[in-house]
Amino acid sequence: MTPPDYDATLDLPPELAADLSYDTLAVHTGIGRGTGVGVGIPIQQMAAFQFDSLEAAAREFQTNTGSSYSRIQNPTVKALERRITALEAGSETVCLSSGQAASFTAFLSACRAGDHIVATSSLFGGSVAMLSNVLPLMGITASLVPNTPDAVKAAMQPNTKLIWAETIGNPAADVADLSALAEIAHAQGALLGVDNTWGGVGLLCRPLDFGADMVTHSLTKWAGGHGSVLGGSVTVGERHDLTRNAIYTDGEPSLLEVRGAGALAWRQRWFGASQLGMILPPQSAYAIAQGLETLSLRLTRECETALALAEFLEGHAGVGRVNYPGLEGSEFHALGQQYLSGGFGAVMSFEVAHPEEFLSRLKVIRMAPNLGDTRTLVVHPWTTTHGKMPEAARRAAGVTPQSIRMSVGVESLADLQADLKRALS
Ligand SMILES: *Cc1c(COP(=O)(O)O)cnc(C)c1O
Repeated sequence: MTPPDYDATLDLPPELAADLSYDTLAVHTGIGRGTGVGVGIPIQQMAAFQFDSLEAAAREFQTNTGSSYSRIQNPTVKALERRITALEAGSETVCLSSGQAASFTAFLSACRAGDHIVATSSLFGGSVAMLSNVLPLMGITASLVPNTPDAVKAAMQPNTKLIWAETIGNPAADVADLSALAEIAHAQGALLGVDNTWGGVGLLCRPLDFGADMVTHSLTKWAGGHGSVLGGSVTVGERHDLTRNAIYTDGEPSLLEVRGAGALAWRQRWFGASQLGMILPPQSAYAIAQGLETLSLRLTRECETALALAEFLEGHAGVGRVNYPGLEGSEFHALGQQYLSGGFGAVMSFEVAHPEEFLSRLKVIRMAPNLGDTRTLVVHPWTTTHGKMPEAARRAAGVTPQSIRMSVGVESLADLQADLKRALS
């Protein structure tokens, strides 16, 4: 797809880009060509940008397509946005300060007071908290339901404006039936939003291809990839229908009339970045853009190691249930095959009889609440990431007192397997 404001100093020619693979787009998008042009995305660490005439200043303030002030648009962040748009095959991306900021921006772009969201209950804990505690303060309500199209359909209300799911749920590793959810949303003019963090910025899954209208990421995870930086993004596709959402149709002229096909992304940038100020610093954008250059190498390897470790854990007498869609016995294996390509993700959860003892015996694997790091990390969701939720909500998310969540890094399979074996003995 051609970005609406195609820029030859940032984008590859669209007819060329259409034929390039993920790995090539990941290292070449966002960089210009020419004598003296740097090979990489430069850090433009400044608050404001100059105008050479009053006319140029007035035009920029009307269109917001160039650079004026870094809360609205920064060139380093813009280069990262172009790279993410290419990798998700979208039409526009807005980068924000964290995954939480991205989810909040996505929710506010579809809903206002009086509207309703249907979400699957096995979401990232922070998303559950935002839907349950923050949005109701603004008059937006949410129903959290089991991750099946039937349950989602049954929860739809006349005022439902958004269905929200994760490509792979956290930590139950349940795969969402994206096409079915898109159909349910679109039947009543609602949007489908997908948190694709576990889908690795379009590497394992591109939800827009399956009918989603917007995709978010915690760029903190596989995109940054080294546990060193926080960030988030929202990417919109081209096909969304806003004609039944009063946010876009109210007023004369309406937002839809003024902004056309770009209205959804415009509102996301206007609210998330410009008005709420949840911006991504240029230093972080640089680190994330660099992380994306090796995402495919890292995540492909991590998926292979994760599958081998899931099979090892499944066969170990000291381990209870193992949740990983790559396992043939997983109830989500078929959906995983349908929606994921190149691997089933780098995260699994499994049950051990004595979590405290198990965790204390690990010597290589570290206990830390992150995902997508180069290092393998584990947490005990019951007492940490999901600890503030009511017990019923924790169980609905697939978390039990015995659950361990593990995000697999790039270490050698043999070393990781030996560490787990030692801790289980
Ligand atoms: C971590 C995470 C988030 C939140 O991202 P932050 O960058 O920590 O704000 C949202 N969704 C998923 C699936 C995550 O793993």
